[in-house]
Amino acid sequence: YSAKAGRGGVAVYDDERDGSGRHRLEAVEQLRAGISGGQLVLHYQPKLALGTGEVEGVEALVRWEHPTRGLVYPDQFIELAESAGLMASLTTRVVELALAQCRSWADQGRWLTVAVNVSPSNLVDEQFPGEVARLLAAHDLPSGVLTLEVTESILMEDRDRAVGVLTRLRDAGVGVSIDDYGTGYSSLAYLATLPVTELKLDRAFVGEMAGSPRAESIVTSTLQLAHAMGLSFVAEGVEDQGTLDTLTFLGCDVVQGYHVSRPLPPEQLWAWLSERASEELAVL
Ligand code: C2E
Ligand code: MG
Ligand code: MG
Ligand code: MG
Repeated sequence: YSAKAGRGGVAVYDDERDGSGRHRLEAVEQLRAGISGGQLVLHYQPKLALGTGEVEGVEALVRWEHPTRGLVYPDQFIELAESAGLMASLTTRVVELALAQCRSWADQGRWLTVAVNVSPSNLVDEQFPGEVARLLAAHDLPSGVLTLEVTESILMEDRDRAVGVLTRLRDAGVGVSIDDYGTGYSSLAYLATLPVTELKLDRAFVGEMAGSPRAESIVTSTLQLAHAMGLSFVAEGVEDQGTLDTLTFLGCDVVQGYHVSRPLPPEQLWAWLSERASEELAVL
């Protein structure tokens, strides 16, 4: 395992500089304390539905407010959490924060769905569906407000158990999204036999669309196949208006990306949503 520094930050742990493994142990203990001690926070990125022009949901992205390092991004601690057996408690915490936020927005008159990313160990954890149901009930929320994002690789690893856990979640009404689609080797025809509701095309393809007919044809054919299989099609990593226009023309259902909004802390997201709403009123 090695979590390299990203975005100019310092890796929480780097095993290449740690012959004794002592630093890893320290990093694990810090992360364990951070999870239970309220140091995880969520930023939310809007998911814009192109059919209605409305933000109907958000994706929750975890950050760690590290006591000395400042805000640490998931690239720098998710693998450590997974390898150290902390993923069950991390995901429970993230789902709890996301649903509490969703409840609070609903209480203020704004229903938003929320998507949470899950890791391989969550999908082989027989406790996980019950835990999700418990948290939904605790916040008095219908299961349809929650979508779980899984990557293709998760579904290939311990396939039968992962499909079993996902089926229970899906049967309970939770949405299931295939995240970063196209970076693995699974066929869409196969994935569509799994209990999934949404396909999220990886931003590598979306980013290449502008100026590349080949990339655009990959997007077009994936979108058509997703729709033929009854899946909602989401494009992530939309960074410019041209790409947004093309996706709208092609019939893409939902977009996410810096061109719409970066992931924001909840107060900033709320302000951003309010501003959009008043702009719409101004147009009327
Ligand atoms: P992801 O689920 O594919 O999330 C999208 C990542 O792309 C996010 O990075 C987001 O900030 C970034 N992004 C969004 N729009 C754009 C854009 O237009 N251009 C570019 N270049 N990037 C964009 P972030 O927040 O650093 O998260 C990275 C990954 O960490 C996520 O990828 C997800 O796999 C994982 N992750 C995040 N939160 C959680 C969590 O709560 N649990 C687990 N297990 N994994 C998480
Ligand atoms: Mg995601
Ligand atoms: Mg993604
Ligand atoms: Mg990703």
